[in-house]
Amino acid sequence: MYDLREAVELLQPESAPTRTSTAIFIFTAPNPGLKTLEGTHTFVVGRRPSVLIDPGPDIPSYVDGLVEWLREEDIEPRAILLSHQHPDHAPGARHLRDVLRVPVWASSRYEETAFEAVEPDFTFGPQQEFPVDEEALRVFETPGHSPDHVAFWLDESGILFSGDTILGRGTSLVAPPEGDMIDYMKTLQHMRTLEPYLIAPGHGPLVNDPLAKIDAYIKHRREREEQILAKLASRPMSVEELVADLYADVDTHLHDLAAGSVAAQLQKLLIEDRVKESAARYELANENYASA
Ligand SMILES: [Zn+2]
Ligand SMILES: [Zn+2]
Repeated sequence: MYDLREAVELLQPESAPTRTSTAIFIFTAPNPGLKTLEGTHTFVVGRRPSVLIDPGPDIPSYVDGLVEWLREEDIEPRAILLSHQHPDHAPGARHLRDVLRVPVWASSRYEETAFEAVEPDFTFGPQQEFPVDEEALRVFETPGHSPDHVAFWLDESGILFSGDTILGRGTSLVAPPEGDMIDYMKTLQHMRTLEPYLIAPGHGPLVNDPLAKIDAYIKHRREREEQILAKLASRPMSVEELVADLYADVDTHLHDLAAGSVAAQLQKLLIEDRVKESAARYELANENYASA
């Protein structure tokens, strides 16, 4: 039989350095992978009052370990908050809700995701806030990686919980139908205006230089867009041809992911009337304005 003691020993949270007294505990779910890096992070923010962000996938031993740790620390989260409904972040909320008997909160757009959603008890309203220790954790919409994505922001501490919008390492996946590159670029700009002191991402290490990270993310997407436009200036191309050209140095088993990114870029360029498509081939809508 499964022993909770064992889980408690496995679950040693990291703490985030803060400029306030707000307590932040970081756990990592045992779901490492290509897109999840070391695993999905669960955050316990505040001791009293407290909330819990992203219980991760439905791994009962992990969720039970979280519960046991909370009991040992005498922390009673008032709410389970979901950054978005993806299977590496949300499904653990069902079991956690049953055990803790606290409500699950999610974006009001939770049904727009392609994944089976965890039915929330409440959806975030505009200007939604949750008290944690001495400050407020704010919720704001950050669509792009998924339509229902939200981020959480501790204004006084300057800490941004970025979910899958910004990762601790590598780039975030933005691919249709979940992803929208126009929304994603707006979301990055919005996050930049917060001037975070620290980003606590859904995967990977804490980001200690948030503005440099956000700028690098924006630059990366803009460069990809320029590369696509440059390729299309020579001839009409399909997504597959663009991937083969642009990702020639990338292992072919990653080309599916790359195709998603290229498709998201093309969708943005189509909406902006900078590219047109016929029979799954893309070409510049107007050479003179392609780089406008
Ligand atoms: Zn995701
Ligand atoms: Zn994720």
